[in-house]
Amino acid sequence: MKCYLCADLLDLKPSWRDLFFMDREETVCLNCRATFERLIQGCKICSASGPGICEECNRWETTELRRTIDSGQCLYAYNNAMKDYFHQFKFLQDVVLAEVFSEELVKAVRKTKGVAVPIPMNPVKLRKRTFAQVDSMLEAGGADYVHLLQKNEEIQGEKTKEERISTRGIFTWNGNSVPKNIVLVDDMYTTGTTLRLAAEILKEAGAETVTFVALIRA
Ligand SMILES: [Zn+2]
Ligand SMILES: [Zn+2]
Repeated sequence: MKCYLCADLLDLKPSWRDLFFMDREETVCLNCRATFERLIQGCKICSASGPGICEECNRWETTELRRTIDSGQCLYAYNNAMKDYFHQFKFLQDVVLAEVFSEELVKAVRKTKGVAVPIPMNPVKLRKRTFAQVDSMLEAGGADYVHLLQKNEEIQGEKTKEERISTRGIFTWNGNSVPKNIVLVDDMYTTGTTLRLAAEILKEAGAETVTFVALIRA
């Protein structure tokens, strides 16, 4: 078998672990694994380094979108290795790449004890891309999930970030029954706006707690 990322042959020397966990299959070589930077939990919401809640997340608590996200976790830094991986996964539609981080993503999701709800893609993008990367990661990791949100087509234009935030309406609840505890799952956390807008809709629809897991913190 070859490494999905660099095409080097994987070291298949059997270990005691393989003897007990026959289903375990490596997808990426150790050299490639080592190029990714796992984040150590810092900010209780976005994993920025440092104690407590970071400045940015504190600022969110002074806006209309306060108390939408109860807690969260980002798993990896957006370093060069992750940029390459993400590009390949997202734009080249390489579905097998979902397996590279699916196990870790699903582990983090399960720890929250919430029902997994993927952040949906814009329907236009979804048509172009043919697959949703968050869904495919959850599926590769064997996790159940439900879709509760529908992403509305974005109005193209020269809006500033603030105007886009105030426009709202980027998500609507799809009417499926809403569990008490939800864990939103996304591939990338950038400003945190998307996740907070999604959480707001879900809380309005009846969710009591909304946490999130994102693979990458940009
Ligand atoms: Zn490799
Ligand atoms: Zn934060």
